[in-house]
Formats: sequence, structure tokens, C-alpha cells
Amino acid sequence: MGNHATMAAMTTDNAAWVARDLAHVWHPCTQMKDHEQLPMIPIRRGEGVWLEDFEGGRYLDAVSSWWVNLFGHANARINAAVREQLERLEQVMLAGFTHEPVIRLSEALTALAPRGLTRCFYADNGSSAVEVAVKMSFHYWRNVGRPAKTRFITLSNSYHGETLGALAVGNVQLYKSIYQPLLMDVITVPSPDCFEREPGESWAGHCRRKFAHMEAALREHAHEAAAVIVEPLVQCAGSMRMYDPVYLELLREACDRHDVHLIADEIAVGFGRTGTMFACEQAHIRPDFMCLSKGLTSGYLPLSTVLTTEPVYEAFYDEYVKLNAFLHSHSFTGNPLACTAALATLDIFRTDDVLARNRALSAHLGRRSRELESHPHVAEVRQHGMIAAVEVVRDKVARQPYPWQERRGLKIYRHALGRGVLLRPIGDVVYFMPPYVITPEQIDLMIEVAREGIELATCD
Ligand SMILES: *Cc1c(COP(=O)(O)O)cnc(C)c1O
Repeated sequence: MGNHATMAAMTTDNAAWVARDLAHVWHPCTQMKDHEQLPMIPIRRGEGVWLEDFEGGRYLDAVSSWWVNLFGHANARINAAVREQLERLEQVMLAGFTHEPVIRLSEALTALAPRGLTRCFYADNGSSAVEVAVKMSFHYWRNVGRPAKTRFITLSNSYHGETLGALAVGNVQLYKSIYQPLLMDVITVPSPDCFEREPGESWAGHCRRKFAHMEAALREHAHEAAAVIVEPLVQCAGSMRMYDPVYLELLREACDRHDVHLIADEIAVGFGRTGTMFACEQAHIRPDFMCLSKGLTSGYLPLSTVLTTEPVYEAFYDEYVKLNAFLHSHSFTGNPLACTAALATLDIFRTDDVLARNRALSAHLGRRSRELESHPHVAEVRQHGMIAAVEVVRDKVARQPYPWQERRGLKIYRHALGRGVLLRPIGDVVYFMPPYVITPEQIDLMIEVAREGIELATCD
């Protein structure tokens, strides 16, 4: 028996796995020194909304494992589909070759997406999809003889991923500022974030007012701007800040008027998260590029896609010697197993009337989470569909946050883990973004544990 097998047989409890982990694994988005204090949770199995550790401890996955899971862990239907595909074909390169899952998935996505998005280009994670959309937009303008259009307009507090191009068009300074010398220069416009609305102002009114900044930026930069990139309705990594669909309506009209592309990054909000299949639908708009990942495979396997239009596709369709093809690729582009998980996901949407069921669930989620609004350290509870967020602050009236160094949110995280709920506040914003298979009773548990955590984290 090899050394590893021996150790696996010996390692039965959480602590032993954690020790082995900490000897070699460098975790994402983590100050590893935190784990001198903070327990790491080794997960042995998952079922539905539950994750289970090596000692039988269970955690309700209230954040859908970083916003990817839609229909629970170890979902029987997705498992069966992927298992069947595994016996047939695990991977083939997508240049010069194709396969049934990618063809069927492209047909299904273009049928579901806002009308006019007829072409799917695949990658294997969200950041790479953003890179694809950015490069394609830039390259489109070159191909149609407008090479001056090289810049991107983005919103403050936006997030589009961690690779250098995606980081450049994002704006969360915690992730970005250190790498600034490596990043392309972008045009940043104030976000329509409705947490910043005036007292008594409606979400729509605030968004209309904020749009003046975008209109001004487009007027000034249209000659050099390739695209505007936004996260429709919710800036998720930017503390779940939200805005009204009217902003997207105004943006679509202005982008058309100024001849600038609109990139909708629906990586987090796509697939029913905000109540409609795609968030853009709430503004009745069609972006020029729509980036999808995360829920695309129900969080099963890494896959992303950029949907775009016939005019964009045609601008690249030419004789090879003109050298204007989109020569971008990733090794695992359009992986058959991942595409199969995506097809099984869409199948569940079709047969189970997921969006209708989510309407009832999100009404319950909204009702219960708004009860937290009366807490003396909660400035706002906001919601779009199956995302609800609770803004914890030091001063409720002045909306003044706690000093970030106090890491109050971390106390909430630790308390919730002890109560068997995985909440992962962003700073001091507690949010709920559960798998769609959650029950009303499980929502109640999630809210109750959050209430206790907020109480504990704000009592001094
Ligand atoms: C998660 C996310 C990304 C990046 O996706 P990865 O798969 O983590 O690279 C991009 N945009 C948005 C809106 C996201 O939420």
C-alpha cells in the first residue's frame, strides 16, 4: 500500500485532514495565517443544501458554495447525466472537432437568451469569459475599421473576476489596487448602487439620477470606448449592492446611440438568481455580449460561455489570410462533461418550473430577512429574487460602517459555522444566496442564525 493510501486510511477526523491540508494547500482569497485561529472545514460529502465534514458535522450551504450551486449537492439528475456522458466522452478539443453536448447546449442557450444572442463562445471559468468578451469587443472594432475604440467603461464597486483583464474592468479595490501597475486603464463611472440613494428617493429615481454620470462618460469617450461592462442588477462581490432595472434600460439605449457595446456579466446573476432566467430580462434588453458561468452547470463543473450577436460573429468571418479571426482558446473549452451538467441544469429548469417555485421561496426569504431591518446595527435589508443582503453598520442613522479592521463579519461567520450554517459575509454585509432546493424551514434557520450572529458581533 502506498504512503498516501495508508494516510488516507488513517485520517478519519477533521483535525487530521486539516493538518494535511495546511501542509500543502494554498487557499483562494485567504490570508493563510488566519487559519492559525480560524478552523478550516474539511468536507467529506454533500447532499442537497447540506455539506458534511469528516466528523458528521453538517453545514447549510447558504451561499451556494460561492454562488455556483443551484439544485443542491450530489443532485441525482445531474449526477446521472454526467455519469452517462463520462462513459462516452470525457474531453475532446473544440477546434476542428465538436460533440453532442456542446451543440445541444448552444442550441438551448441561444433559445433561452434574449433574442439576437445567437452565438456561443466557450471558456472554463467566469474570469476567462470576461476576458473573451473584452477581447472580442476590442477586436470587433478593429475588424470593422474603428481601431481607436480600445477602452472600457466600468462601474465603481463592480467585480468581473481575478485575471488581469477582468481585474482591470472590475473595481473592488481590495482585490485590485495592489495590481494596478499591471492593469489596463479603464473609465470608471459611479455605480447606481441604491444603498447610496437619498432618504425617500426610489430605487428607480436614484438610478435615473446616477445615469447622468454614464451619459457624460459615453458622450466624452464614445470615440475611444469599445464597451461598457456591468453586472446586471446586483454587484455581488461588491457587497451585494443592488440597483433598479431602469438603469439597464437607459444604458442599452445610450450604448446604441453612442455606438458602444454593452457587456452583461451575468456570471453570478444568471440562471434565475434575480427572479428571471437572466437579469437583463427585467430591463427587456439584449446586451451585445452576455457572460455566463457559475450556475451554468449548477456549480458542478467549470464552464463559461459568452453569448454574442450575428453582427459580431460576422465581423470575424473572413478569409484566413486577412488574420482577423478570434484566435483565442482554452484547453478545456466546451468540455463535454461540463456541457452535460449544463444541459441537465436546463432540463431541471424546464421540467420543475423552477422560476415559479423560486418566486414563492424568494417572497419567504424577503419577508424573513426584512425582519432583521429593525436591528439597531442593520442599516438596510435589500433583495433581488434569491439574493438577500443585510448591511451591518456601527451607526444605523448615519449609515456609518464599523472599521474594517474589526472584522465583525468574521464573527458572524464563526458563529454560524458553530450553528451548522455556512454564511460568508462580505466585510460586514451578511447575505443569503441559497441553492434553489432550500425549504422555507431551512430559510428560517438561516435567518435565525444570522440574527444571532449579528447580535453577537455588534454587542460591544
Ligand atoms: C464570480 C464572478 C466572476 C469570475 O468568475 P470566476 O469563475 O470566479 O473566474 C466574474 N464576474 C462576476 C459577476 C462574478 O460573480
